[in-house]
Amino acid sequence: MWRIIIILILLIVLFLMIRKSFRDFRSGKSAGHAPLSKDMMVQDPVCKLYIAAGSAVVEHIGGQPYHFCGHDCAGKFKRYMAERG
Ligand SMILES: [Zn+2]
Repeated sequence: MWRIIIILILLIVLFLMIRKSFRDFRSGKSAGHAPLSKDMMVQDPVCKLYIAAGSAVVEHIGGQPYHFCGHDCAGKFKRYMAERG
């Protein structure tokens, strides 16, 4: 009987520790409330290159932000979206 209680307490402590470290990890990772931090990597949908959000060319198409490595890719993507309708 005592063994079950001790195991339960250990499980609760373990759960709380995991939850705490997980929360620390998450809050440490995403500083501030901006959805995209400047050094976060984003993918260019045209050439599939990864660029830092801070140095990417951002185009809002259909209310959605898209990140590109340069104006070449942004132009290609806009033409593609226009052709698709
Ligand atoms: Zn590109």
